[in-house]
Amino acid sequence: MYQSFIGLEVHIHLLTRTKVFCACPSAFGDEPNTHICPVCMGYPGVLPSLNIEAMRMGCTVARSLNCRIPERTWFERKQYFYPDMPKNYQISQFASPLGQNGYMDLEGNGKIAPLKKRVRIKECHLEEDAGKMIHTGTVSLLDYNRAGVSLLEIVTEPDMETGEDAELFIRQLRRMVRYLGVCDGNMEEGSLRADANVSINLPGRGLGKKVEIKNLNSSRFVRLGLNYEIVRQGGVLDAGKEVVQETRLWNENRDQTEPMRTKENAQDYRYFPEPDLPVFAPDAAFLASVEAALVELPQERIARFEAEYGLSSELADLICDEKAEADYFEEAVAEAVTRGLEKNDAASRISSRLASDIRHILSREGLPLSAIASLKITPRRLASLVVLSAQRKVSGKNAKQTLEAVIAEDRDPEDLIRERGWDLLTDPERIAEAVRGVYEDEGPLFKEAREAVNPKRRRTLTAYLVGKVLERTAGRADPGVAGEQVKRLIEAPQPAANK
Ligand code: ADP
Ligand code: ZN
Ligand code: MG
Repeated sequence: MYQSFIGLEVHIHLLTRTKVFCACPSAFGDEPNTHICPVCMGYPGVLPSLNIEAMRMGCTVARSLNCRIPERTWFERKQYFYPDMPKNYQISQFASPLGQNGYMDLEGNGKIAPLKKRVRIKECHLEEDAGKMIHTGTVSLLDYNRAGVSLLEIVTEPDMETGEDAELFIRQLRRMVRYLGVCDGNMEEGSLRADANVSINLPGRGLGKKVEIKNLNSSRFVRLGLNYEIVRQGGVLDAGKEVVQETRLWNENRDQTEPMRTKENAQDYRYFPEPDLPVFAPDAAFLASVEAALVELPQERIARFEAEYGLSSELADLICDEKAEADYFEEAVAEAVTRGLEKNDAASRISSRLASDIRHILSREGLPLSAIASLKITPRRLASLVVLSAQRKVSGKNAKQTLEAVIAEDRDPEDLIRERGWDLLTDPERIAEAVRGVYEDEGPLFKEAREAVNPKRRRTLTAYLVGKVLERTAGRADPGVAGEQVKRLIEAPQPAANK
């Protein structure tokens, strides 16, 4: 058995309006090479200037990862040649990155990952992204729109052990940066990219020779790639050979990692301080603006939802995955409480509506969860419907119908229910009328139910007859009252005429 060590380097695109060292827009998907200028194209003699918003966002992530922001942080040039980088060096941070020595606790559910595990964050540093190379047939094209876009790199210590740990880390980090509003977290589009480093060794021998898996664009590939590597490296050591320190790529068609290049060391980059940018010494006002940008983080919110609303950890995790949904939930619960429901009851009713009906509606309309805030069924309207259901003023079936009508017509549930007569019918005399009608049509079935030896058969028939009563009242009859009356009539065959 070997011990495994995993460290991640996660790059996130910061949602700054302009690039990190020039005024070009950092918009994506536009005509190639339209968002470029002499600075991001590395013309001789130009001067970069720091986008303070990028520095603020970077520090906000760093603080949320419990990092220390140093008194002085600066930039270095990292030299290498690649066609997608016209300057032949990247402005990055090396000696004093903006965030240092933090941690994030992985909160697994015990099924795929351990309950709680601390992953130390080595550093967060701010740098510029490179352009994009597009290979088509015999030529390679270059689009420099992305060159110079703000990139924050988060580097962990090798504290994870399995692909599952790493997948959870990325999932939590992605959720965190989305909560902070500094990155959209879209891995497919490359707004969040991960390189995964892994080594194995005999227990007690410390770290092994590491392999880096590059450019993993989904958290699933991170897990698959790492677990594949752990097995592959085990085979190498078992055969008495040494693992080659190299960079590999995940081949998603073959489900395996493949060698790409042997890896450079830090000294190959010949880092030296960027002479064109001053040292950044955050002042009190800057630090205060960072603190002001901090929000309740997803893991804290999940814990609060469990404690404050009595939600299960699974449900709290589900609802807190998207900030907009968690906000919606809290607003709806507060409204339902104002309308008289007890808090935990309101939370349980609202959360189950969110997990079922509301998610169903969003996916039916092809909308992402974040679009929840723009639904016609607002938190106030959902709360009102839930309260009416709880007070037994509308049947389950008609509540669903009301929900659809609210969406289709952009109107309040209470108005729709009143106008369309969807309110719950509880008057025993009017329900008895419907029961008599069913008895007239289905007399033999009442008899069959009465004489049924098999209790299951009896239950099936009863349910069928109650269903008929509901049908006769257009879904309005209180199923409880209808059920009572049907049962009574099965047991004692006098139509409930004079009751
Ligand atoms: P490099 O200089 O090759 O970039 P770093 O020390 O900066 O290496 O580490 C890069 C990433 O690799 C970090 O996430 C770190 O935790 C991880 N790492 C470093 N050494 C090992 C190792 N022997 N096994 C697994 N992961 C490692
Ligand atoms: Zn520019
Ligand atoms: Mg490194």
